[in-house]
Amino acid sequence: MKLLAWFSKVTYSCTACDATQRIPLRRVHAFERFYGLTEGQPVLIQCPKCLEGLQCPSPYRSHTSHLVTVDPSHPPKNAFIHALY
Ligand SMILES: [Zn+2]
Repeated sequence: MKLLAWFSKVTYSCTACDATQRIPLRRVHAFERFYGLTEGQPVLIQCPKCLEGLQCPSPYRSHTSHLVTVDPSHPPKNAFIHALY
C-alpha cells in the first residue's frame, strides 16, 4: 500500500476551465501532513491557469488511508485550498 501510494497520482481538474494536472499522491500527503489537515479533509488547488476556478481531485486515499472524494459542483466547506501550484 505504501509503495502504491508512492507511485500513484491524483488528477486535478479545474471547475472553470479545461486545465488538469496530475500530482503525485505522495505530494498530496505531504500537504496533509505539513498543514496538519484533519481526517479526510480534501486538498483543492487554486487554478494557476484561469485563477478563478478550483482544481478538484479525483478520489484518493489520504495518508491515514481515509478515502477522499470531492464533488466539483459542491466542494466541501472544510477543503484546504492550496494556492497556486
Ligand atoms: Zn482553471
